[in-house]
Amino acid sequence: MTGRDLGRVKCSACGAIFEPLAWSALVMLERIEPSEVERIISGWPEGTCVEARPCGCCGRRIVARCARPDPSR
Ligand SMILES: [Zn+2]
Repeated sequence: MTGRDLGRVKCSACGAIFEPLAWSALVMLERIEPSEVERIISGWPEGTCVEARPCGCCGRRIVARCARPDPSR
């Protein structure tokens, strides 16, 4: 996965693709902060968190890597 794909999420169940805006509009179920992920996976990109949201089409839970929104904004 390259940085260009970051933010775009594909549902593995129904194949629906969510652009960053559509993804952020879905209900957030879970979020793992970058510091948490770095503890488990070495070389994890800085400022990247993991989010789980339900697919807007089929409702299946999708877990995706996301850029963490800048808290200063
Ligand atoms: Zn789906």
